[in-house]
Amino acid sequence: MPSPKRYTQRGQGQVGQELEQTRKAVQSLAGAVQTAWGSIEGLNADAALDEIVGVLDRELKDEDGFLLRPMNCPHHIHIYKAVPRSYRDLPVRLAEFGTVYRYEQSGELAGLLRVRGFTQDDAHIFCTPEQLPQEIAGTVQLSLEILQVLQLSDCRIRLGLRDPDSDKYSGDPELWTLAEQQLRDVVRGLELDCSEEIGEAAFYGPKIDFIVRDCIGREWQLGTVQVDYTLPERFDLTYVGADNKPHRPIMIHRAPFGSIERLMAVLIEHYAGEFPLWLAPVQVGLVTVSEKSADYAGQVHARLLEAGLRAELDLSSEKIGPKKHRMRARKIPYILVVGEQEAADGSVNVNPRDGQTPGSVSLDTFVRACQDEIAAKASSEPGRGSSR
Ligand SMILES: [Zn+2]
Repeated sequence: MPSPKRYTQRGQGQVGQELEQTRKAVQSLAGAVQTAWGSIEGLNADAALDEIVGVLDRELKDEDGFLLRPMNCPHHIHIYKAVPRSYRDLPVRLAEFGTVYRYEQSGELAGLLRVRGFTQDDAHIFCTPEQLPQEIAGTVQLSLEILQVLQLSDCRIRLGLRDPDSDKYSGDPELWTLAEQQLRDVVRGLELDCSEEIGEAAFYGPKIDFIVRDCIGREWQLGTVQVDYTLPERFDLTYVGADNKPHRPIMIHRAPFGSIERLMAVLIEHYAGEFPLWLAPVQVGLVTVSEKSADYAGQVHARLLEAGLRAELDLSSEKIGPKKHRMRARKIPYILVVGEQEAADGSVNVNPRDGQTPGSVSLDTFVRACQDEIAAKASSEPGRGSSR
């Protein structure tokens, strides 16, 4: 952020001009969002652009020049639109961890599972019709890989289709049928089990959702892959084809984690707080038998941090029992105890979370074993009191 001094140096007039330009850019973007997405309080979807800008202008003034965004899609669309695109540029893949805000009813809010501000690992892929099957397959495989690494194996795949009797969907019915068939083909090509559910599509296109069941049987939608012919149409997106003529790209919306907050909530329950080593917020806890080994403990701590491990050192003068107990309660995967013996031979006494008998190994051996375990993302079945 520029300091007040810099503002003075650059002159108020110039800053004012820049702000005015930014405001105009936001206004035109917000107007386009409104045109494509429908209602903002006080506005009709078919309101004239002047009216839209007027309402947003008032909101911008009231809110100190900021508006909360409910989705990332229109922003990525405007990045795509910012320069002319050729078929040679495609696919254009834009990704961000984008925080969005939705005014959920207070009765629907639940811990981290449903919140009003959350962050999506959101991406939009703009591609040609020929590229579409491969791009969909790539995003589905990415989503599956993530679920596999996180060991969220109790997961089902849902193909969300349009309800032909509902008027909440926009776009050409023929393109809808085509998009639905393309998603179906990819799922079949990958030999995945999937249920087709009418009425579960996004308003702009059909989607594949990855639905995870938590430890008490509740289902949560995490990842999603959506094919969209509608927004490219409404935002008038184009690329120049090999025939030198303008063509319409197709958009894929994808978010393998869905919401980071919801993912965290599901993971905490899933592992019952016992995260595998690679995922644990604190990987190694370090406690001293007495003050005599404080220097050596400091060296061990430094070595662990240097090796990239998230390690915490408890140098307090309490007895070893309560110190270890506190770390165990936090479900830290490994607790290392160091006393005079360990200091003398350069070792650590390893107490694994899974209850295996503690044993002494050299510090280097321990560090290497941790690095291997992290690299392999190794873990036994979650929530069963084991870390290996
Ligand atoms: Zn999107």
